[in-house]
Amino acid sequence: MHEVVLNNVSYFYGTARVLKDIIFTAEAGDFVCLLGPSGCGKSTLLRLLAGLARPSSGEITIGGSEITGPGLDRGVVFQDYSLFPWMTAGQNIILALQQAFPGKKKSDYHEAAQGYLEMVGLGTSFAKLPGQMSGGMRQRVAIARAFAVNAPVLLMDEPFGALDAITRARLQDMLLQLWQQKEGERKTVFFVTHDVEEAILLANRIVVLGLNPGSIKGAFEVNLPRPRIRQELYHEKQFLELRDQLVTVLHENILHELDGGQTVRPLGEGI
Ligand code: ADP
Repeated sequence: MHEVVLNNVSYFYGTARVLKDIIFTAEAGDFVCLLGPSGCGKSTLLRLLAGLARPSSGEITIGGSEITGPGLDRGVVFQDYSLFPWMTAGQNIILALQQAFPGKKKSDYHEAAQGYLEMVGLGTSFAKLPGQMSGGMRQRVAIARAFAVNAPVLLMDEPFGALDAITRARLQDMLLQLWQQKEGERKTVFFVTHDVEEAILLANRIVVLGLNPGSIKGAFEVNLPRPRIRQELYHEKQFLELRDQLVTVLHENILHELDGGQTVRPLGEGI
């Protein structure tokens, strides 16, 4: 249904090639984590998927149709894709609902927005302004908004990157619960992170991007059963092996960028 196909996608900023020949297909319902060092083009790829920029060459299709701009078939949760600060949490969600499902009664929007806030544990925060909420609460509202529009594809760019470890773990669990809730109607998720463990916890497929220019260095299946319980997961052989493989691919690329791997010397020893 909503498979996402990246067909030989390249992207330039001016003359600088940022993405090179990206070929990848996400099946409908895949949870894909994009992993890679800073600057390898993860956010750029997500912007292309969001339709905020067009590939310099190649094409991206969703359900067979080429992406030519932003659309209601994609929900977006970016770190800097903030809520409207002058609107309450509830109003932010109502606005998204009005755009996605026009022509409904005011009370229906209100009720639905309240329901989505409850879903992310913010049932009592309808009237709060973003400035009156913590970073974790704001991200939960952004996730509720993305789920409210019920887009089949969800694009998330390091959505939990700025949060403390505990809030981050809670939101990871919540996201997985929401994603798993409707078997058969699962959203296709692209989730950018540079955290290997976060990627294994969340994804069923992990794409590792490398630097200069950004290209796919490896694609991995994550066959660990769900629900994935952190305390158990971190000791499982399959988890540890996959983590090693991912770290190896990431480091190979980073060392290559450092020109053959330099030795770190103690300060004062000279170079
Ligand atoms: P990542 O998300 O993996 O950290 P980005 O997609 O943000 O990587 O950036 C990839 C490369 O493109 C980097 O080298 C970055 O400096 C460059 N870049 C990002 N945005 C712009 C821009 N607006 N203009 C020029 N270069 C950019």
